[in-house]
Amino acid sequence: QGATELLGVGELVTGYGAEPVLHGINLQVKAGEMVALLGANGAGKSTLMRALAGLHRPVQGGIHAGGVNLMHLRAEDIVRHGVVLVPEGRQVFPELSVLDNIRLGAFLYPQDVDARVEEMLGRFPRLRERLHQRAGLLSGGEQQMLAIARGLMSRPRVLLLDEPSLGLAPKVIAELFAALDRLRSENMTIVLVDQMAALALSLADRAYVIEGGRVVAQGTAAEIAANDALAKAYLGGH
Ligand code: ATP
Repeated sequence: QGATELLGVGELVTGYGAEPVLHGINLQVKAGEMVALLGANGAGKSTLMRALAGLHRPVQGGIHAGGVNLMHLRAEDIVRHGVVLVPEGRQVFPELSVLDNIRLGAFLYPQDVDARVEEMLGRFPRLRERLHQRAGLLSGGEQQMLAIARGLMSRPRVLLLDEPSLGLAPKVIAELFAALDRLRSENMTIVLVDQMAALALSLADRAYVIEGGRVVAQGTAAEIAANDALAKAYLGGH
C-alpha cells in the first residue's frame, strides 16, 4: 500500500504568452501521500496547480493520474478522473448559501448528497452553524473550509490545495491544518502549496522545492526540513 503512483507530471512546460513559467517540471505523487510544494512567490506553484486541474493549458510534457493521460482533457473531465483543485483565494459563490456551495461540489456525483454534506459538517463544524447563510458573509477561515468541503464533495482521488492558509489568523490556520491532518490520516492523497512552509512540512510526507519554474530540490519532509540552506530559504526561521 502507498506504493502506487497516483499522479505523475513529466517535463511539464507552460507559460503565459511567449513567457515560459514552468521549464520542465517532474513530480510523482503516490496514493495516500501528502506532498508539499515549496518555493518563493512567483516560482510557478499556482501555475502548476492550475495546469494539473486543466485550468491552464500546458505547452509540453505529460500529466497522468491513475494511468490516464490528462494533458488535453477539459477541467471537468479532470475532476471526473479524480483530480480536484481547491484554488487560491477561497472561491466560494458569495450569493449562495453555505449548503448550496457544498452541494455544488457534488455536481458529478449527486448520489447520497445529504449523507456526504453531513460528513462535511462533521469535518467542519463551523459550517453547520452557518449552513443557511450566504457564503459571502463567512469569515476567511470559514470560506476556506467551505472551499475544501466543496472540493471533497467531488470525490477527489488527489486533492490539490493552493494556499489554504493565506490571510488567515494563526488560530484558524491551526484548525484548518488539523482538518488537513485528519484527511491525511484517512489516506487522502494531497498536494499542498502553502506559505506556512514549516507547518506544511510538518504534515507532508515529501516535498518539492520549485524555483524559477524548475524543481531545485526534493526529498522527504524530514530531509528538506533538515537541510540548512533550504530551511533558511523556505522555513523562514519559524
Ligand atoms: P504565488 O505564491 O505568488 O502565487 P507562485 O509560485 O504560485 O507564486 P505563479 O502564480 O504560478 O507563482 O506565477 C509564476 C509566474 O507567472 C510569475 O512570474 C507570475 O507573474 C506569472 N503569472 C502568473 N499568472 C499570470 C497570468 N495570468 N498572466 C501572466 N503572467 C502570469
